[in-house]
Amino acid sequence: MDIYKKSLRELAALLNSKEISSKELTKYFLERITKFDSKLNSFISINEDYANQQADKADKLIASGKNNFLTGIPIAHKDLFSTKDIFTTCGSKMLEHYLPPYDATVVKKLNDAGMISIGKTNMDEFAMGSSNESSYFGDVKNPWNLEKVPGGSSGGSASAVAARLCPVASGSDTGGSIRQPAAFCGLTGLKPTYGSVSRYGMIAYASSLDQGGPIGKSAEDCAVIFDEIKGFDKNDSTSNYQIDFKKTRMDLSKKDVNKITIGIPKEYFSQGIDEDISKIIFQAIEEFKNFGFNIKEITLPDHGYSIPAYYIIASAEASSNLSRYDGVKFGYRCKDPINLEDLYFRTRKEGFGTEVKKRIMIGTYALSSGFYDEYYMRALKIRRIIRDNFKKAFQEVDFIFSPTSPTTAFNLGEKTSNALEMYLSDIYTTPVNLAGLPAISIPVGFNNELPVGMQIIGDYFSESNILNIANYFQKETDWHNYIPEEFNHE
Ligand code: GLN
Repeated sequence: MDIYKKSLRELAALLNSKEISSKELTKYFLERITKFDSKLNSFISINEDYANQQADKADKLIASGKNNFLTGIPIAHKDLFSTKDIFTTCGSKMLEHYLPPYDATVVKKLNDAGMISIGKTNMDEFAMGSSNESSYFGDVKNPWNLEKVPGGSSGGSASAVAARLCPVASGSDTGGSIRQPAAFCGLTGLKPTYGSVSRYGMIAYASSLDQGGPIGKSAEDCAVIFDEIKGFDKNDSTSNYQIDFKKTRMDLSKKDVNKITIGIPKEYFSQGIDEDISKIIFQAIEEFKNFGFNIKEITLPDHGYSIPAYYIIASAEASSNLSRYDGVKFGYRCKDPINLEDLYFRTRKEGFGTEVKKRIMIGTYALSSGFYDEYYMRALKIRRIIRDNFKKAFQEVDFIFSPTSPTTAFNLGEKTSNALEMYLSDIYTTPVNLAGLPAISIPVGFNNELPVGMQIIGDYFSESNILNIANYFQKETDWHNYIPEEFNHE
């Protein structure tokens, strides 16, 4: 039946018609993980017993007709979403044995909808990275080419969905970590507006930028998950309480498209981008034009400052958020400390990896008195300018299209010794986080047999429009249906 290829809607139909039970479906994906994941390392832990219990419950609900659309369908969660009594490591030795006492809101909402939480996916340590090479639990491989990175930091989620080891996964995006791995792995990944999805129970990296969202095979699948996880949460003081989050309706029709204008920021194509990728993005833009959408060149100046501003702000917030890992409250503790200072020093020295330490040092420096104005304040001013530039652009256009990343997936090890090059892979994604806007990455072609992603940015809380236009493209094209050959069988 090729179940691994099925969309969430198709899986729901199979479950509802009782052609397959949730128990069988869960077993099917657990077996795929056992069969294939040794090549990818996309999972940190598998919740076999828990998943089976959830599946039994789901089958009872389905039998009684009290099920929800998602009841009985497996999902994998990035290992920074707290899962009650299930290890949540955040890709770090610091939290290797951490068992959260509660579920993150995203996890709880999906559990309540009856989804099966089959495992926790690998990630860059504390979500810091663009290649999934900073995980304490080892590198993750890209299913399209096992010598390439899957992107980061949600690389485990992207790799697992791309190899069809699970139907869909959660991710988090602080500066691109949903969109960039989705692009590298030929998937669709939605970074919602800041405040759309609760951050409660998501282990914090940079709180003013972090946002959870889905990584899936299509915009349609992402919409189903987004609808379930969005909305106000009293446990997250930054979640938005004013928006009336309606169910996403994929109702963009042919007659509407000529009312829609797509902006192409000229600065995004002027330098630093691989020429072949630029060509593929323009082919996709041409297709939108042929569908009848209006295309307009726009300007988004100052976007070159996003990377420095982002790395100052994200590191500053990380240095504060990660101060809690001190060997006292929870997490790793060094052996036989001789005094309190030794406990702090050695716990953090032994518990954190290099990238995390680097960020803590940059952040502490940027926040220190004497340098605060020069770095942190300046970065905040740039953040405001970037937001204002987007605001101006959205007075002229409905969407902004750009590449998701300047290159396709690069070789494992290729950029680990050059931090700047690694950071530049987020050049098109970080401005969106700084502004707090929603954006999606969709696959639009291949370059040297590696997927190319295009980013669609929308105005605040316009997720349903973004999902709609992405879905429109996916109905007319096929790029999202390609599966890496090595994993394209039962
Ligand atoms: N690559 C970026 C960083 O390292 C973004 C990470 C993310 O979005 N979590 O900070």
